[in-house]
Amino acid sequence: MERIKLHDKCFKVSIPYSKIEESIKTVAEQLNRDYKDVENPLFLSVLNGSFMFTADLMKSVNFNCEISFIKLSSYSGVESTGEIKQIIGINKPLKGRSVVIIEDIVDTGATIEELYGLLEKEGVKDIRICTLLLKPDAYKKDIDINYVALRIPNDFIVGFGLDYNELGRQYKDIYVLDNSGS
Ligand code: 5GP
Ligand code: MG
Repeated sequence: MERIKLHDKCFKVSIPYSKIEESIKTVAEQLNRDYKDVENPLFLSVLNGSFMFTADLMKSVNFNCEISFIKLSSYSGVESTGEIKQIIGINKPLKGRSVVIIEDIVDTGATIEELYGLLEKEGVKDIRICTLLLKPDAYKKDIDINYVALRIPNDFIVGFGLDYNELGRQYKDIYVLDNSGS
């Protein structure tokens, strides 16, 4: 499907699944190398957007680890509201653990900064961030984004877990706003 319509907007394919898949495998190889001797690391996947990335990534991770999910929100429509709400809490012991945050996309970094602070307060020993997508031109924070599958320009994208007002998450390709008319 080359073009899709979600609510009032049209989107066109920007990153095909073949490229997404390949870049996720590369990130999994980096994790396999870096975490092979780490004791019981915890992957913390940020819902809803990260569900597809998390599923694909975990299929290529070959060390023992735990997976848990957290739900936050900072987006309404196509612009960041800058307001973060924690909706589903973390129900695992975190003190002294190594945690890898799994994100769909890091934009301004507000979400990641909030979550990072939360994990620090819980006494996490080592926090790393693994994201499917990074918008380097929008990212304004000092926290290292340790694992990045794909870097993209400052455009609004959907698909592969990401939504436009809750639609579009199921598509396996990544789509970008198409302003060429609908
Ligand atoms: P940040 O807090 O870094 O500004 O934004 C992070 C969150 O905003 C992401 O987890 C994601 O839910 C949402 N977001 C940022 N950029 C995009 C985008 O281009 N498309 C969609 N669908 N969501 C985005
Ligand atoms: Mg997200």
